[in-house]
Amino acid sequence: MKFASRIGGVGASATFKYSALAKKEGVVNLTIGRTEFSTPNTIVEAAKKALDEGRIHYTPTRGIPELREKITEKLEKENNIRDINPEKILVSTGAKQVIFEAIMSLIGRGDKVGMPDPSWVSYESIVKIAEGDIVWLPLKHEKGFIPDEDFLSALENSDAKLVFINSPNNPTGAVYPEKVIRKVADIAERKDMWIISDEIYEKIIYEGKHFSAGSIYPKTITVGGFSKEFSMTGWRLGYAACPEKEVIDKMNIIQSQSVSCAVSFVQYAATLAFTPEVREETRIMKETLRKRRDYLARRLRDMQVLERIPSGAFYIFPNFGEIDDVALTEKLLRRGVGVIPGSAFGSEGTGCVRISYGAVSQKGMERAADEIEKWI
Ligand code: PLP
Repeated sequence: MKFASRIGGVGASATFKYSALAKKEGVVNLTIGRTEFSTPNTIVEAAKKALDEGRIHYTPTRGIPELREKITEKLEKENNIRDINPEKILVSTGAKQVIFEAIMSLIGRGDKVGMPDPSWVSYESIVKIAEGDIVWLPLKHEKGFIPDEDFLSALENSDAKLVFINSPNNPTGAVYPEKVIRKVADIAERKDMWIISDEIYEKIIYEGKHFSAGSIYPKTITVGGFSKEFSMTGWRLGYAACPEKEVIDKMNIIQSQSVSCAVSFVQYAATLAFTPEVREETRIMKETLRKRRDYLARRLRDMQVLERIPSGAFYIFPNFGEIDDVALTEKLLRRGVGVIPGSAFGSEGTGCVRISYGAVSQKGMERAADEIEKWI
C-alpha cells in the first residue's frame, strides 16, 4: 500500500515499545516515563466535582480561561516569563500535542531543526512528520550531556529555524545551568531562531535551579505539562506559552482542526494544581525520587559507567562504552531488567541505556544494579 511520504521514516515510539516488552511478571521495569505516585487528591476531587457539575462539553479550543489565567500567573511568578496573558497560552491534550502543534505551525518541508543528540524520541519523529530536516547537535557523556562549545558551534552553523531544549532532560536527567541556556538564547536571537523549551520536568530538580529560556528570549515557546509533576500522564493535559501571540494562534488553528480542545473536566480539575498543598505533594514525591537517584547513581558510579550524577527528572543515562546498546537491552530483559537502549534517543546515546527510577522499589533497584554489574 502507498502511504503519505511524511509517515515514511517514522516508527512507533521506542519508549512505548520497550515499555510494553518490560511489562511482564518478574521484570524490574526501568522503562517507564512516569512515577508510581497517585494524582494529588485535591485534583482528583476537583475532577469529580467538575463532572458532578456537568463540565462535560467542548471548551474553548485554547482551553478554559480560568486555567489559562492560572498558567499565566504561574509562568510570570515562577518562570519570570514576561509579556504573556491568557491569549498567549494554549492548553491541550498533553505536552506532546502542543509540541506537535508548534512544529506543524513553524516547520515545513526542508526547514531545519536543531536537535540535541540525544533527545526525547518524539521530537525527531514529529519533525519528520512535518517533513523538516534534523540538524543533530552533539552532547557528550563526559560533560553530563550539558551543551558545550561543540554543541553551541554546531547550533551557530546549523542554519536552523528552530531549536529544541529540554531541561531537566529526558533521557539524560541533565539540568542545564542558566549560563548555558543564555548562550543558546543568544545564538537563537542572533540567528533569528525559534526555541521550543520543553520544561515538563521543571519541578523535579535535586540540585541547581530551573531557568526558563522564555524569560530572556520572546521567540521561545515554553512547553509545560501536568503528566510528570502531578502524576497525570493518563489525564492528557499540557500547555504552551509564547509572548509572540501569532504562533499560539496558529497552533490553536491546528488544535481546533484536530483534537478540538483538552478534556473539559480535566481542565477544571487542573485549576487547583498550582496550590501550596499540591506543591507539597510534589515536594514529597521528589524526596523519594532523590533517594532512588542517589542509590542508582552510587551503584553506577562504582561500576564506572556514570561520569556525572544527573540533577533532575527521574532518568539516569549510563554509558557502557563501545557496546551494542540494543543487544545489552535485550540481554538485560532476558535477565529480568527492562531499560531503553540509548541509541533510540540519537547516535550520541549509542552505548548507553536509559534507566527510569520513576516507579521502582528499592529491591527492584538493587536487583537491576546487580544484574548490570554482573553483565559488566
Ligand atoms: N516532553 C518530554 C521531555 C517528555 O519526557 C514527555 C513524556 O514522556 C513529554 C514531553 C510528553 O508529556 P505529555 O504526557 O504531557 O504529553
